[in-house]
Amino acid sequence: MIGSTQQAGADGAGKDSVARQGLPGRPLACALLGLLAAVGAFILFRFEPGRAGIYPVCLLHRVTGLWCPGCGALRATHQLLHGHILAALHFNALYVILLPLLAWFGLRSLMGIATGRPVHFEIRPWWLWCGLAALVCFGVVRNLPFAAALAPR
Ligand SMILES: [Zn+2]
Repeated sequence: MIGSTQQAGADGAGKDSVARQGLPGRPLACALLGLLAAVGAFILFRFEPGRAGIYPVCLLHRVTGLWCPGCGALRATHQLLHGHILAALHFNALYVILLPLLAWFGLRSLMGIATGRPVHFEIRPWWLWCGLAALVCFGVVRNLPFAAALAPR
């Protein structure tokens, strides 16, 4: 297989061949990423953020007392792993709403790594600007008194 890849590389088709077949270490890397995700999910399931004291704290919240757009995401994930969707929405609504999209991007990327097929995401720049605007707006609004329900207290 290596020989055929090297021969194909001489005429410029080697990159396509390697990309289609995948590198030998890719399945192992994907398995390790999957194992890492499973271990992380188990830790989040078993040890409740905010009580366990083993999780990193948000520096913005610690220094300023303000909630950043990501504050409450670990607690939301803990609640989701226990099947409590409403409690998860309370801790970080934006994260919970975007989680299916994030999971789709992650799984598709992982499949691309595993198979060696290039993953093409057709993301238009204005989508990124809209996402950034939503993130900033969520971060600002959840710190305002009238939207205290969005703060992960
Ligand atoms: Zn934060």
